[in-house]
Amino acid sequence: MHINSYSHSRILNNPKYQNIMSSKLEEELPPHVVIFPFPAQGHMNCMLNLAHLFCLTDFHVTFVVSEFSHRLLLSSTSVPATFAAYPGFQFRSIPDGLPDHHPRSGAKAADVVPAVTNHMVPLFKKMMAEEDFLASPHRRPATCFVADGFFTFAVDFAEENGIPLIYFRTPSASYFWAYFHVDDLIQAQEIPINAEKSMDLLVEGVPGMKGFLRRRDLPGFFRTYDLNEPLLQSLAVATKQIVRAQAVIFNTFDDLEGPIVSLMLEKLPRIFTIGPIHEQQKSKLMEKKSEASAVAANFWAEDRSCIDWLSAQPRRSVIYVSFGSTTVVTREQLMEFWHGLVNSSQRFLWVMRPDSVAGKDGDGRVPAELAEGAKEKGYFVKWVPQEEVLNHPAVGGFLTHSGWNSTLESIVAGVPMICWPYFGDQTINSRFVSEVWKIGVDIKDTCDRLIIEEVIREVMVVRKDEFLERADGMAKMAKKAVERGVEHGPLIQAQAQIHRSLKCEK
Ligand code: UDP
Repeated sequence: MHINSYSHSRILNNPKYQNIMSSKLEEELPPHVVIFPFPAQGHMNCMLNLAHLFCLTDFHVTFVVSEFSHRLLLSSTSVPATFAAYPGFQFRSIPDGLPDHHPRSGAKAADVVPAVTNHMVPLFKKMMAEEDFLASPHRRPATCFVADGFFTFAVDFAEENGIPLIYFRTPSASYFWAYFHVDDLIQAQEIPINAEKSMDLLVEGVPGMKGFLRRRDLPGFFRTYDLNEPLLQSLAVATKQIVRAQAVIFNTFDDLEGPIVSLMLEKLPRIFTIGPIHEQQKSKLMEKKSEASAVAANFWAEDRSCIDWLSAQPRRSVIYVSFGSTTVVTREQLMEFWHGLVNSSQRFLWVMRPDSVAGKDGDGRVPAELAEGAKEKGYFVKWVPQEEVLNHPAVGGFLTHSGWNSTLESIVAGVPMICWPYFGDQTINSRFVSEVWKIGVDIKDTCDRLIIEEVIREVMVVRKDEFLERADGMAKMAKKAVERGVEHGPLIQAQAQIHRSLKCEK
């Protein structure tokens, strides 16, 4: 591909930019990266971390968000203050076509997918075309496009416009790899997964995972009777076409998913394993002696009272309970968790988002009997500063939905997990936590107060030392990955690739 063919011809011949073309643009202006995440909490978090890392190396960054998520970011986070320190950073917001009052989360989260495809993406393309790839006298036209791995449009768009494309796959590499083999799995009749009795059969069709991957651990979207199901299909397309990008970024590290990543290297273009990205960001801030704060792109306001509560609890005595930004539980499931937690006699800190309970109880209030019965040992909040919570000395375990960000944050903090996956990559992440890394227990496909009570005791009491020791070992490896990355790591290589693209090198 002739990288930047558009920027060196069509756009730069535009009279608007003539006066800067010969001198400043060629020599002084840094690369300009356009980052476009899928507008959901988990995607936004790590892609904003990437934006911050680019800003810290003086790249120009345009970060594309939906108007809705932009409003949330402006109102409940430190994001605007952090990025105000970088004149080369800009947000561009685009309407997603959903009505203002639409929550875009909880039970309604799935509506965001068609809204993005049918509304945001065409508007993004229009903006790029009409605004000369966001060129200005102070900013090169975009020199690299970092697109969310979900975005199937990105490859054709990048090729048609001659802009280098780097995909950012925000879920785990293992999830990607299972999806990559979707056709083999269909051919071998390992999916669709629909017969309850066969859920524990081992799956043969995913290289590197034979012997421990069961049907129930495959990506959640494979649980369908209908192979034409739109989400299954669009994610399969997105996965397969990734080979057409210049490179792919994964938020992972070699001691964690190295064996899978090395198999992927045979099939994919360049891979940059730049995780754990939240820790990379902190390390870069320290290296630069920057006073900027690490980005925490929360869509909800953090309730910091939980930190005071944690500080009054004994060391490693609290189980932190959170199912991320999208999971919805039924009233029955809520009661099973509550009984399991209370009967385990352990202290717990439980995040209950306003929209996290299905049905009429999903009005943001903790049901009265739960709050009453948990007074002694429990604390409920709507949203917490999760990294800080996981790193608090009082926390000894994490009851999680196994979202990839939460999994990585728990790994870095050295906190063992009890996994109750909900969908997507969570079903496979939880298998790796329990069977491969052995830093937790996986209770997928159950929601029973007796099982919950038993596993909480197992992780918090019976096998506490064993789990903590292994989690600590993994946390050390995560930190080493970050230290190794400072000089020559994948992040530096990714940035070098973006620099090279300015000179039309491969
Ligand atoms: N998170 C948070 N406070 C909370 C719950 C979650 O800051 O009370 C953050 C968490 O740190 C993580 C993200 O929300 O970075 C959730 O992402 P994940 O991939 O774990 O799950 P998703 O929400 O995408 O299902």
